[in-house]
Amino acid sequence: MAQQEDVFKKIVSHCKEYGFVFPSSDIYDGLGAVYDYGQNGVELKNNIKQYWWQSMVLLHENIVGIDAAIFMHPTTWKASGHVDAFNDPLIDNRDSKKRYRADVLIEEQMAKYEDKIQKEIEKAQKKYGDNFDEPQFRSTNPRVLENQRKYDDLHRRFQEVMNAEGGIDLEGLKQIILDEEIVCPISGTRNWTDVRQFNLMFKTEMGSTADGASTIYLRPETAQGIFVNYLNVQKTGRMKLPFGIAQIGKAFRNEIVARQFIFRMREFEQMEMQFFIQPGTELDWFAKWKETRMKWHQNLGFGAENYRFHDHDKLAHYANAATDIEFHMPFGFKEVEGIHSRTNFDLSQHAKYSGKKIEYFDPETNESYTPYVIETSIGVDRMFLSIMCHSYEEQLLPDGQTRTVLHLPAALAPVKLAVFPLTKKDGMPEKAQEIINDLRFHFNCKYEEKDQIGKRYRRMDAIGCPYCVTVDQQTLEDNTVTLRDRDTMEQHRVAISDLRSIIEDKVSITSLLKKLL
Ligand code: ATP
Repeated sequence: MAQQEDVFKKIVSHCKEYGFVFPSSDIYDGLGAVYDYGQNGVELKNNIKQYWWQSMVLLHENIVGIDAAIFMHPTTWKASGHVDAFNDPLIDNRDSKKRYRADVLIEEQMAKYEDKIQKEIEKAQKKYGDNFDEPQFRSTNPRVLENQRKYDDLHRRFQEVMNAEGGIDLEGLKQIILDEEIVCPISGTRNWTDVRQFNLMFKTEMGSTADGASTIYLRPETAQGIFVNYLNVQKTGRMKLPFGIAQIGKAFRNEIVARQFIFRMREFEQMEMQFFIQPGTELDWFAKWKETRMKWHQNLGFGAENYRFHDHDKLAHYANAATDIEFHMPFGFKEVEGIHSRTNFDLSQHAKYSGKKIEYFDPETNESYTPYVIETSIGVDRMFLSIMCHSYEEQLLPDGQTRTVLHLPAALAPVKLAVFPLTKKDGMPEKAQEIINDLRFHFNCKYEEKDQIGKRYRRMDAIGCPYCVTVDQQTLEDNTVTLRDRDTMEQHRVAISDLRSIIEDKVSITSLLKKLL
């Protein structure tokens, strides 16, 4: 675990050192849980967004995009339930003065029991090798059974307090924390305050006070911008059910426990798609979107074992199915995307609060109804973090040296091709520029002439650039260059005129999208 934390720290500093992610307002020592993306980070982020956007809008004839404003009419958030219920249960430790989400403390405790079980299984697996029978071991080993019982009891109690009549049972939550003897990770004590509810929305004022300013919110999710535009898009686009509306945009949450770098931010970006369907078909569509979205993730080639679904036991009152796609981060399996079957809750609420009729006339059945919705909602920043974590490697080379390399999927890499003149003389820089001038319209290229070639390779490895070419004396004679592959570090000679066809297909988002079909 400590080793994993070390790796994570290294990834965070790598992100800063190589222009991926900076603390916001760095010269003023940063702002809690707010980050800026640097020159390489913005390219990677844009590529992630493009991969998502195109997989939705380009590959589905019945999905269109919108870009709604961040500010919305305040009634939106009354209707959606965010004013009354977008709360986190908070608890403070009196000794460390640190604040925690009570539900997260309990979830972490459950994860500890799961970890203990997993460790026993791994130990036994090593001991018995091929003869290991996991189901039998799980049902007979006393330590596993004991931890499973603790997990099940805790899980059942947790469900009860989270789903209590009239909202979360705050006293019940605190009692669990006391009974489980959960300590503050900083002070190590159990000196806890009561649990309180805290609304996560940021408020601001619109208009001057003299005009009678009104309180408005920074949107905590992009989804509501889609719901309030359902009628506009359906009518003007003459959309027929089932159809989807996709959107990428900023969202804001006044997160209490803002840790883990860009995993939990106060200003972040979401990619959401609401898919409108006929009532009664939602569980089929839910299953279909689960599969489609998992395929999108696994298409990046990070290994199926690094993903899992986490089905929700605790459903929001309007949802009839919900799951998270979790990715194996250095700090455990964590949610990257949520998929929810939201019934007709949002559209009905907006119909009620706006007084507008928000329905779909189905020409096939001659009926009008409020569509049901399947939502897929993914955080750009969490996706960015999962890609960084998986790609980062400190590699020991056969010659005993080490290199830090980002094995980014080539289609997402900020820079696709670096071009180096071997020396700054004999027309090599000009030749290198010529290559860039020709290829820059097709993919992102970078010119580098400083330092020895070895150092230049290392810099490119560190930003995940999949290809480097070197212009040398021979280039001036026969128009060939050495092409070096980031992952294998192999080099071979190719004609300049072939560079585009060799590289373009491998680095284009299209190549990723084609694998999805
Ligand atoms: P969590 O339980 O981790 O707080 P959530 O279930 O509240 O997340 P959703 O409301 O389902 O998250 O939001 C959808 C997606 O938006 C999440 O899967 C995540 O990728 C992203 N997201 C949510 N909150 C944040 C945040 N504070 N910082 C970065 N990304 C976030």
